Amino acid sequence: MPTLEKVLIANRGEIALRVLRACKELDIATVAVHSKADRELKHVLLADEAVCIGPAPSTESYLNVPAIISAAEVTRATAIHPGYGFLAENADFADQVEKSGFVFIGPKADTIRLMGDKVSAIQSMKKAGVPTVPGSDGPLTDDDDRTLEIARRIGFPVIIKAAAGGGGRGMRVVHDEESLPSAVQVTQSEAAAAFGSSVVYLEKFLQQPRHVEVQVLADGQGNAIHLGDRDCSLQRRHQKVLEEAPAPDIPPDLRQQVAESCINACLEIGYRGAGTFEFLYEDGGFYFIEMNTRVQVEHPVTEMVTNFDIVREQLRIASGRTLSVTQQDIKFSGHAFECRINAEDPTTFMPSPGTVTTFHAPGGLGVRVDSHLYDGYTVPPYYDSLIAKVISYGDNRETALARMRQALDELVVEGIRTNTALHRELVRDEAFKAGGVSIHYLEKLLEG
Ligand code: ADP
Repeated sequence: MPTLEKVLIANRGEIALRVLRACKELDIATVAVHSKADRELKHVLLADEAVCIGPAPSTESYLNVPAIISAAEVTRATAIHPGYGFLAENADFADQVEKSGFVFIGPKADTIRLMGDKVSAIQSMKKAGVPTVPGSDGPLTDDDDRTLEIARRIGFPVIIKAAAGGGGRGMRVVHDEESLPSAVQVTQSEAAAAFGSSVVYLEKFLQQPRHVEVQVLADGQGNAIHLGDRDCSLQRRHQKVLEEAPAPDIPPDLRQQVAESCINACLEIGYRGAGTFEFLYEDGGFYFIEMNTRVQVEHPVTEMVTNFDIVREQLRIASGRTLSVTQQDIKFSGHAFECRINAEDPTTFMPSPGTVTTFHAPGGLGVRVDSHLYDGYTVPPYYDSLIAKVISYGDNRETALARMRQALDELVVEGIRTNTALHRELVRDEAFKAGGVSIHYLEKLLEG
């Protein structure tokens, strides 16, 4: 059974700090790897060891597989935690890590590969009884008539999606029969250029869905549990902005049924580690869209309502142990919100890097802040603009929301521009307060 004596954290920012904290709590030694632009990162300063793995651009540092593996060798790390983004869902990286004799803190490479191809992911989910979007159930062929037949059966509008797509790219909505053949062709060539695979598939385009996802943990040894759901419908350009747990107004038996289907799928594909099943939810129906085979940005809202440490469990699972709890041990209580604070211009949404002259984090009962910021820290221009996650918890949704309003009012970030004002507005918005807005709500609000 592998032991995690020393974990190399192959990431940066708040998630690197989150992993570092979990390691410290478990007395696991830590290695921070960082680019030349990231010497001043909080977790780099706090780690037992730090290794510079390359210049600022992430292609030469955080995505530089040989440099990361070398850093693990030099420091005699025993395991690598990929965080989210960067190499977290790169099956070849997971393969490389294990072939080099380190533990990859995540699922098996083959599982990442299976879920990274949306066509194979949907097919295996369907087989496991997870509800999916009505669609082509496989890649589209060059046979236009056959494609038209599928679209007619499903009903317009439909959406053409790249099997290898990600980050909200490689998708095209089609409203009528005439535009279908060209839409398929264009999406195929775009997909080939962007993702190196021209495979596309088709599914029903849902008009006013919510984004609801289910958090799971599995040990790859025959045990899997769910930690309930989250609603992440407030999005801008497919990027989540504000999340909550649990998703409001879902019938309890349906909630239970979907969560159980996710557990079943984990067992069927031999899933290992933390994972998220993402669904669109519309008119009382759940429709699987993809699985994320890693820890997610919004995992804290689930931790708050379950009082369960997801990252610590990831480390336990990677050390070869079975799950520390059973489903019955997980008690859901209260409600939680998370606001993603980004270093960006509040009106243009352009990144706003620079030196933070003052950072004052909010506090109080039921308030958690996951952030790598400190006074004098300079946000570099090269990476994602997430600088802090403000998380609130309460016995019920209203209390959690009231605490979030208060927390956002207390938050001070000076020296750079942030989207804090937008969050202050959102938590006072009547429709959001009522709960259950669709994935288009935020963009409509911003347009208006
Ligand atoms: P990605 O991997 O690029 O994030 P997803 O399959 O998760 O791709 O889809 C991203 C987003 O695109 C969804 O959150 C949703 O907003 C929209 N979308 C995807 N499929 C559909 C669909 N069938 N109907 C309506 N919207 C969809």
